[in-house]
Amino acid sequence: MIVNCRGLRTSRQRSDILPIIALLMLSMATGCSQSNPNQGRTSQQSPQAQEAASTPRAQSGKTKVVTTFLPIYLFTKAVAGNIADVEILVPPGTEVHEYQATPENVKAIATTNVLVKNGLGLEVFLENTVKNAQNSKLTEIDASKGIKPLNEISPVVKTTQQEKDHEHTQGNPHVWLDPVLAKQQVTNIRDGLIAADPVNKATYEANAAAYIKELESLNSEFQQTLQKTPSCTFITFHDAFPYLAKRYNLKQVAVVQIPEDQLSPTDVQNAVNAVKKYKVKALFSEPGVDNKLLVSLSKDLKLTLRPLDSLETGETDPQHYFQAMKSNLQTLQTACK
Ligand SMILES: [Zn+2]
Repeated sequence: MIVNCRGLRTSRQRSDILPIIALLMLSMATGCSQSNPNQGRTSQQSPQAQEAASTPRAQSGKTKVVTTFLPIYLFTKAVAGNIADVEILVPPGTEVHEYQATPENVKAIATTNVLVKNGLGLEVFLENTVKNAQNSKLTEIDASKGIKPLNEISPVVKTTQQEKDHEHTQGNPHVWLDPVLAKQQVTNIRDGLIAADPVNKATYEANAAAYIKELESLNSEFQQTLQKTPSCTFITFHDAFPYLAKRYNLKQVAVVQIPEDQLSPTDVQNAVNAVKKYKVKALFSEPGVDNKLLVSLSKDLKLTLRPLDSLETGETDPQHYFQAMKSNLQTLQTACK
C-alpha cells in the first residue's frame, strides 16, 4: 500500500524559500522557544543544567514532553497546559514529510521524558533520531494508536514524469484533519501523559475533556454544514484530506502532481480529463502557497483555486486547530455549493 503525499511539495520555488521561512518562523516562534529550557545552552552548561541533562526532567521540575510537528504539538499542549513543558521538533513552516532531524532534535529526545508522534509512518525521521538519542527512560506516545488507517489511494493525476515521490507504507497519515479521529488522538495523548506523569492525572483529564468537547462541537458543525452538499467532489495537490472526506461524505477524487518548471499541453489535458471524469466541483491548494502553475491550471480547469489548510504549519496556540478547521469548513461550504 502506497500513498502519495506531496503533489505540491515538488515545487522547486517552494522548497527553496522554505529555509528562509523556517528561519523567520524560528525567530518568531517565541511560544515554542520559551518552552524549551535547554535551548541555547550547548557549550557552556552550568552544573545544574548538566544535571538536568543527565536526568530526564526539565529544570523547572516539570515533565518534559517533545512532540513532532504542529497538530501533535497543539493536541499535546492542550492536554498538558502548563503542567508539562511541551516542545516541537519540526518548526512550523518546515515540511514534515521530508524532514531531516538535526543534532538539536537528538539532544531534545535524549533529555525528554515523553515523545509524542502522529505515527502511521509520517515521522520517518524519528527512527534513527530516537536510536541516536539513547534515552532508556523515554516514554513514546503514538497518537494514532488504535486508528485504522485508510488504505485506498486517491488516483494520482500525473502531470509530470519526475523523481519518485515520497511514499507512505502504513496508510495515509493525515488523521488529525478529521475532528473525530483528532478526538482519538487527544485521548491517546492524555492516557500516555497520565501513564508518564500520574501525579498530574486530574489536570490532564480536565484539560483533555475541555478540548474534546470543542472537537465534538466542531464535528457537529461540519456535519450540519456539509450534509447540505453531499458527495461534493474535489481535487487537491496534497493527499491530506481522505479522512475528512470520508467523515463528511465528500469525495477527494484525485491528487494532481505539479512539475517544477512548466505544464505541458499534455499535462493540462490529463488534468482536464480528470476533472471531467470525476465531475469535480472544487480545486484546493494550501494557505500561503503562491504557485503560478496552480493558478494557470485552475484557469484551464475552469475551477476556482481555494486554500484548504492541512495544518502541517501554522500558529502554536492549541486554539489554532479550531480556527483553521472552521476556516476550512467555510472554504468547503463555498466551494461545494
Ligand atoms: Zn501531508
